[in-house]
Amino acid sequence: MRTDVIVVGGGVIGLTTAVVLAERGVRVRLWTRDEAEDTTSAVAGGLCWPYRSEPRELVEGWAVRSLRVYEALANDSATTGVRLVPGTMADTPLSAFPHWSAQLPGLREARPDELPEGFGQGLRATVPLLDMPVYLRYLHGRLARAGARVERRTVADLREPAAEAGVVVNCAGLGARELVPDRAVRPVRGQLVLVENPGIDAWFVATESPTESPATPPAKSSTETTYVLPQPYGVVLGGTAHDDAWDLTPDPATAEAIVKRCSRVHPALAGARVIGHRVGLRPVRDAVRIERERTEGGGLLVHHYGHGGAGVTVAWGCAQAAADLVS
Ligand SMILES: Cc1cc2nc3c(=O)[nH]c(=O)nc-3n(C[C@H](O)[C@H](O)[C@H](O)COP(=O)(O)OP(=O)(O)OC[C@H]3O[C@@H](n4cnc5c(N)ncnc54)[C@H](O)[C@@H]3O)c2cc1C
Repeated sequence: MRTDVIVVGGGVIGLTTAVVLAERGVRVRLWTRDEAEDTTSAVAGGLCWPYRSEPRELVEGWAVRSLRVYEALANDSATTGVRLVPGTMADTPLSAFPHWSAQLPGLREARPDELPEGFGQGLRATVPLLDMPVYLRYLHGRLARAGARVERRTVADLREPAAEAGVVVNCAGLGARELVPDRAVRPVRGQLVLVENPGIDAWFVATESPTESPATPPAKSSTETTYVLPQPYGVVLGGTAHDDAWDLTPDPATAEAIVKRCSRVHPALAGARVIGHRVGLRPVRDAVRIERERTEGGGLLVHHYGHGGAGVTVAWGCAQAAADLVS
């Protein structure tokens, strides 16, 4: 099979972009350094909600386009791993993401009695929640059905794929830092704890720390979040967001603090059995890069990386925008 396009990167961004291109009839090969289960995308909590991804106006539009796709995929959740799950986003006013949140089924302000102690306001809505390992396998299957091939290959220089295809799409996530090279993309480390589910069926997220008293405004904290995401395999508890931290080893004290924070929302979590730990590095950038340039050899290089903390949330909208640059 002759290849028109090589996509570099097999996380949610590379896979989704490759699917969009292949389903448009483009002959695609995907090169990835890591198996899907070893990517940042496999670590993601899988909740669709914009977080630490810019620029905000574009992110909202991409998130809405992705929402439509995930809503359709949720009709076959056993195969896709996508479910529509109700939950609460604390510390967030209705005005935070007006375009995005207006599209969400059941969106409304949370009543004070619906919020855990220490959280002053919040939103209730039903959003897609993805079981990432299942979803990444689904994308692989869909890509294969569209005729594309996935190859384990580490790229040291983008001229390598450019020598084999007229168009290269760079979806290397944090790998773009070395590959482009682009120092503007940097890690924001996140740590999660997996526990057995003590009976939780709705998600809860707060991106700020709760205050001791609801009378005082929440203390802003960019490093500690509280989230509780019920997945079929257990509950994902989060989280952290440490800028420019590269360590992929779970820190026991951080894990303990996460469980403690989440237990303030659901006391039953304090006694839930821990079944795993996860750490991932969000590929954060001032702005998601979707841009094309000509290579020295006259080929086309499309950059598509830097989705920060919302790569899953925006994947389909961004992939369509990146695929539009390929023609
Ligand atoms: C703890 C945590 C929780 C998160 N929760 C959510 C969430 O709930 N919702 C949400 O929307 N987002 C979430 N995110 C963010 C999301 O995980 C990322 O935005 C997304 O995974 C980025 O996808 P990606 O494909 O760009 O990068 P990655 O998944 O990192 O994939 C990069 C790919 O590029 C390949 N690659 C890199 N360099 C090279 C090279 N030199 N040669 C060949 N291949 C290369 C890698 O092997 C890999 O296949 C979370 C992130 C973390 C860390």
